[in-house]
Amino acid sequence: MGKRYDTLLFPGGLKKAFTISYDDGAKQDIRLLALCDKYRIKGTFNLNYGDLGQRPERKYAVEIIRKEDVSELYKNQEIGGHGLYHSDLSTIGEPLAIYEIIEDKRNLEKIAEKPLRMFAYPYGTFNDDAKKILKAAGYKGARTVRSTHGFNLPEDTFELDPSCHHNDPELFKLAEEFVNSQDRRPQLFYVWGHSYEFDRDDNWDVIEEFLYYMDEHRDEIWFAGNGEILAYLEAYKRLEYSADGSMIYNPSALDVEIATSLTAKELLKSGQVTRIKETVL
Ligand SMILES: [Zn+2]
Repeated sequence: MGKRYDTLLFPGGLKKAFTISYDDGAKQDIRLLALCDKYRIKGTFNLNYGDLGQRPERKYAVEIIRKEDVSELYKNQEIGGHGLYHSDLSTIGEPLAIYEIIEDKRNLEKIAEKPLRMFAYPYGTFNDDAKKILKAAGYKGARTVRSTHGFNLPEDTFELDPSCHHNDPELFKLAEEFVNSQDRRPQLFYVWGHSYEFDRDDNWDVIEEFLYYMDEHRDEIWFAGNGEILAYLEAYKRLEYSADGSMIYNPSALDVEIATSLTAKELLKSGQVTRIKETVL
């Protein structure tokens, strides 16, 4: 085979993916979820099972969604873990970190009716033990609060750094940069926050304008939950290549799309060997 440019493409042969991640399950999620439905946005909502229906004493006292409302409210979105009582995993020690992570996951999964894939670190803090426990518990990734102001795919999914928070002064600049990017590499735009901040900061108009903008440019973007994106990246990593690149086996349960040259795309069907045609650039 001649020179190749194999690169991951997202489903639909797209180079870009967009996702959001919102923490704590405050009642303001109801308004945000309605905006997500309106603008067909997908994301992950990270919940503290032990805080559901409560008004936990934290930095901002907010009312949390009730247990019995979770499954209906978040039905179009992904549910992620955020620790049973939102404890700081970097300080509580391993036994309690295990309890926080497992009890939250076990109970939320009963509501979600599927295994949870994604976690968000409470306060954004973590250490190697926390990462190890999350992996052992079956999570596929965990989000930090470190803004990259970029769109690179994560190297370590257990230190998944978002592009920015919704209050970032560069939010719209980044959105424009993302939409207009002609980069050959796959790009992920990842925005996070807390829905109660929109009440606190009186800026619901900002998030609505932002989601409207992303929806307007959906032709070239895959809109997906955090866990959906991680599952896809995992399927891509599992591809098995023949020595000369002419055959690729996709052992996963997901179809995977790749670019093999600047112009040629291939759909690698789940469970099949695909023969790649020689392309002339
Ligand atoms: Zn939180």
